[in-house]
Amino acid sequence: MIKNYINGKWVDSIAKESVEIHNPATGQVIERCPMGTAEELAAATAAAKEAFKTWRRTPAVDRTVYLFKLRDLLEQNFEELAKLVTTEHGKTYIEAKGSVRRGIQMVETACGIPTMMMGEHFEDIATGIDSKAVRRPMGVFGVIAPFNFPAMVPFWFWPYAVAMGNTVVIKPSERVPLTQVKVFELIEKAGFPKGVINMVHGGKDVVNAMCTHPDIKGVSFVGSTPVAKHVYVTATSHGKRVQALGGAKNFMVVLPDAEMDKAAATAYESITGCAGERCLAGSVVVSIGKETAKEVEDMVVRRAKEATVGNGMDANCSMGPMISQAAKDRVKGLIQSAIDEGAELLVDGRQGVDQMPGFFLKPTVLKGIKAHMKIAKEEVFGPVILLAESDSLDSAIEWINSSPFANTTTLFTTSGAAARKFSYEVDPSMIGINIGVPAPMAFFSFGGSKDSFFGDVKAHGKQCVNFYTDTFVTIERWGSNANVWSHK
Ligand code: NAD
Repeated sequence: MIKNYINGKWVDSIAKESVEIHNPATGQVIERCPMGTAEELAAATAAAKEAFKTWRRTPAVDRTVYLFKLRDLLEQNFEELAKLVTTEHGKTYIEAKGSVRRGIQMVETACGIPTMMMGEHFEDIATGIDSKAVRRPMGVFGVIAPFNFPAMVPFWFWPYAVAMGNTVVIKPSERVPLTQVKVFELIEKAGFPKGVINMVHGGKDVVNAMCTHPDIKGVSFVGSTPVAKHVYVTATSHGKRVQALGGAKNFMVVLPDAEMDKAAATAYESITGCAGERCLAGSVVVSIGKETAKEVEDMVVRRAKEATVGNGMDANCSMGPMISQAAKDRVKGLIQSAIDEGAELLVDGRQGVDQMPGFFLKPTVLKGIKAHMKIAKEEVFGPVILLAESDSLDSAIEWINSSPFANTTTLFTTSGAAARKFSYEVDPSMIGINIGVPAPMAFFSFGGSKDSFFGDVKAHGKQCVNFYTDTFVTIERWGSNANVWSHK
């Protein structure tokens, strides 16, 4: 059974319940995760609150020394971390390495906090009066992570919060907590003072306790839309700041002038990478015109049939398993619903997978997708390529904007004018032009809009300073007798 990390110590959970952690490529149970309690969250919060007293007084340049150390430790343990991601999540080793790299970039960017969190000063706002604004850390922040990026997602938040002088309690996904256990071993090695970074394992009880605890100042959440909404409503009604990143339904539009080979390959990779378990994964490919649709279909079908699905640690594997049997069954059900509603099945990824160990589903291609179908509305979160046709860019944009989700969308084109129109008119706030997974880098902000994001300030980027600090303004007048210091 894995342990919590509270106040600089590894402690056994007092939880009575626990869940199995699987290797999704084999289906084997590799560990157990305790389903923590409100009491444990309270203990971690108390430790973080106490640590905040000295951490907030530690100069930013000294705080970042620990992050620089952690960055080196993450580099030294890069391969082990990526292997853990593949082992507990299933994505291929190459994909896992990419996600760990993104996590390290967050730590590197947070090392620039002395510049990022500088305040403002203005002389003579009135005669002889000056004003300054400083950004001050607020206290304890909570971080809640989803299963699909075991290493990366917690790094979207805590390095910035901690660099700014806050302290944190992190709750990893109970389905993939092992990578975070390793990250915390490195946090311990980096020597962060006790109580600054804490981890409590569990599920909804820990989440609900975090959203209501009076000493938690804010919550950074990533997960599905219903839970994101719940976290937003609960935590804001308890006076907290919240940034809650939710689910998605991502559309990719292919114009007749696109570089067709690249567009089809990129759309295929976007939808099937990480077995489709990405919030930025494409889902519906909308081709403009019959000829475009035919070209995309031929290329995507060929790629889907060539896929080598297997254990993510195998170098020949192009796609790993899904996270669980339940996730696989849910996606199979969605595929069937599309067939029942009139979609045409071109490649059936359900064939030949039930005899494999683990939770595999092969790439599936469905054609004739219409906006009213269940599969066109819900997040699939699996390797299912949905092919649709539309007669104009305008009608494709209308379809995109009719979705309650608005995480990301992509246009494939060689026309600057079409690209500009698309970027300007679509609702999703992470936009790709000939890019299949437009994931903002650490120094840009990450997050969708509408039902894909609840809050005001998105993850990382310059604006995260606004989330993890409060602004204090001082207005000063000092009279005019400064000559008392004159030596005549
Ligand atoms: P999830 O909502 O099931 O779980 C997320 C977190 O919430 C976990 O830590 C879990 O323990 C907790 N949780 C689950 N049910 C809860 C409940 N009823 N009450 C309180 N807490 C609860 O999400 P998941 O399945 O782990 O992750 C996949 C989802 O996350 C997908 O919808 C995906 O699109 C989304 N996601 C979004 C982004 C983004 O940037 N918008 C990034 C990654 C994943």
